Amino acid sequence: YSQLRLILGDQLNASHSWLRQPCEDTLYVMMEMRQETDYVRHHRQKVLAFFAAMRNFANAIAHKHDVLYLTLDHQGNKQQLTDNLDMVLQHTKVQDFAYQAPDEWRLDEQLARYSPDGVSVSMVDTEHFLTARDALGDYFKDPNKVLLETFYRRLRKQYNYLMEGDKPAGGKWNYDHDNRKKLPDKVQVPTPLVFDNDVSELDVLLTKQGVDSFGEVDATALPWPVSRKQSRELLNFFLEHGLANFGRYQDAMSKRCWSLFHSRLSFSMNSKMLSPREVIESAIEAHHKQPDVINLAQIEGFVRQILGWREFVRAIYWDKMPDYANLNKLQHERALPEFYWTGDTKMACLQHAIRQSLQYAYAHHIQRLMITGNFALLIGADPVAVDAWYLGIYVDAIEWVELPNTRGMSQFADGGILATKPYASGGNYINNMGHYCKDCHYDVKQKHGEGSCPFNVLYWHFLDRHQQLFANNQRMSMMYRQWEKRESNEREAILTTANEYLIHLETL
Ligand code: FAD
Ligand code: SF4
Repeated sequence: YSQLRLILGDQLNASHSWLRQPCEDTLYVMMEMRQETDYVRHHRQKVLAFFAAMRNFANAIAHKHDVLYLTLDHQGNKQQLTDNLDMVLQHTKVQDFAYQAPDEWRLDEQLARYSPDGVSVSMVDTEHFLTARDALGDYFKDPNKVLLETFYRRLRKQYNYLMEGDKPAGGKWNYDHDNRKKLPDKVQVPTPLVFDNDVSELDVLLTKQGVDSFGEVDATALPWPVSRKQSRELLNFFLEHGLANFGRYQDAMSKRCWSLFHSRLSFSMNSKMLSPREVIESAIEAHHKQPDVINLAQIEGFVRQILGWREFVRAIYWDKMPDYANLNKLQHERALPEFYWTGDTKMACLQHAIRQSLQYAYAHHIQRLMITGNFALLIGADPVAVDAWYLGIYVDAIEWVELPNTRGMSQFADGGILATKPYASGGNYINNMGHYCKDCHYDVKQKHGEGSCPFNVLYWHFLDRHQQLFANNQRMSMMYRQWEKRESNEREAILTTANEYLIHLETL
């Protein structure tokens, strides 16, 4: 062979130009490694989904290309990326090595530092995203004053998505106001399409190799799509059953279904089995075909997530790393309560969001942000622990997207680079958007004292302890005024209950 090409586990892009033509003198290499199973403790379904998808991808491209696939138990597998590359390069005597730009800092550094003797090394694009890695500077003069809305509008124009000339289709850029409703009892939710993939062989392999993981799994029926074909099926299912209500119930929370009208396409996109362009363009096409069923508010809400948020958090990640991973503006240090790994808490909202995450390796955005994330923020949990939890538990969790969402958007540890104010709320928000409170041990209407909703008192405790930092934030001044208007004995009662709860977190 004259060239060795590495394909990482989240680079399963079958449309990559590398793969267009069969090339007899090129060898592709893919590897299952302990380096990847062990950098954080993952949900079992996440490890299984990645390995199963990698195996399917390797088998699919092997029809036209030569592929060396190192399984976890392959005799020569050194379980570390560059050691394995050394071994393959020595064995094949190839003098030209190429890889696709990794999306994670960790792997990018590892490969950037790799310079095997006598071998030329080059990096190519993954041909997946709609913006370049270092796009932030193209869109903002001051990279510390960035706004999703500005970034998103520029991209809408650049790609001509949902545009009428240089104006947004329908005359509005943002339909959030029409969206984000609570889920009424009478609205039917689709039964999620699951794939029941039998990955029991892989599961046995993980056990034999002693891979540590957590979460529930039925390895004879893994629900996640693990091939391009299944990913396309999930996309079509979403277009048919989810998109028409996507924006409307995007922020709704309910025990009735684990994914409501969400697409669950994040794993397929993050592993690159689906490209963001094809997802956006298929959704826009579905809207054009049935504009009365899939109205502008629904399609705009969906496009904003992928064209806007997904590209935006990636741009922030690459602009701010590696420092971003150590930011802790609020100096939070508390350990996460044990119930994050069991769901055993009397708080109905947390119990449901955590148990569902353990069961499916999935929770939708508002569960992540306003339930588990909000609680971690209010109690002052150490962002290192919070990151490790999110990076481990979700099937779609890869650092470039997990870190800005968790440390930035959810924990405000970046001091407001990603969000202009912390996503902190009391029980009222959860009650307004979800069905949890009526079945809860705690009373969402009670403002303090035993039995009061922990979110209520912890919210004011959070504002009170960070007054210096937030009192001048325009978007929060109204809440501070409300706090100051209260009688001092009421404020004291709230803080006393909050302190009690903080001491006894594990029993909440
Ligand atoms: P849908 O609701 O159907 O949305 C469609 C798509 O939009 C998603 O598949 C995703 O690709 C994209 N999207 C939506 N919101 C975001 C966002 N905030 N950032 C980036 N992309 C977005 N997403 C991940 O892909 N991996 C993560 O590790 C991850 N960690 C998160 C941690 C926290 C604390 C929070 C608050 C959010 C996190 N997100 C993460 C973003 C978002 O919650 C998930 O992308 C979404 O829930 C995936 O489910 P879905 O495919 O059904 O999304
Ligand atoms: Fe969650 Fe509070 Fe509602 Fe209970 S009362 S479900 S803790 S918001």
